[in-house]
Amino acid sequence: MNKVTVLVEGYARPGPNDSFLASSTTSLIETSDKKILVDPGANKELLLAGLAKLNIKPEEISLIYISHYHPDHFLNINLFPNLDIYEGTIKWRKDKEYFHSDFIPGTDIAILPTPGHTSDHSSLLVSTKEGVICIAGDVFWWEDGQQKSETKEDLLSFKDPYATDEKALMKSRDLVLEKADPIIPGHGKIFKNPTRLNST
Ligand SMILES: [Zn+2]
Repeated sequence: MNKVTVLVEGYARPGPNDSFLASSTTSLIETSDKKILVDPGANKELLLAGLAKLNIKPEEISLIYISHYHPDHFLNINLFPNLDIYEGTIKWRKDKEYFHSDFIPGTDIAILPTPGHTSDHSSLLVSTKEGVICIAGDVFWWEDGQQKSETKEDLLSFKDPYATDEKALMKSRDLVLEKADPIIPGHGKIFKNPTRLNST
């Protein structure tokens, strides 16, 4: 059975001198024979510390999956120069592209196209003992201290200042809420899907 662990919780906040600090959430999916790193992020120290905490060496990672092409989600791929990089339905091996379809090959991890934040954005649906978890990248994300994920309205109304297509983003958010619980956002804390909670 697949197992999902949040290795690094993503953050996003204003930094000194008009800068902005951001690194994505990094998740680890362990299947029967693979260790998959999703969005390795941009903070090398936090990523290495997250792996070390689980006693996993970087060379034990089998492949890397990227939700979309924003550097705060992928700069750390330089720690894994020999690994295949997957995004959407393409696998990159050095300068070669290979196409695949709806699952990460050799696994039952489903790739869900979720455009809106960027047009190429995708999320992963992972079946685990606890149910289907969505690693949703920036379909959902918040600056530090801004997270509001208690109701469906909260989740749909949050405005993503970087969204390239707001309509598509809303559809993607709905789709993720339809399909999974819990949900791992691109920056912020893993949250329960409020549409699955019993209203009492
Ligand atoms: Zn991001």
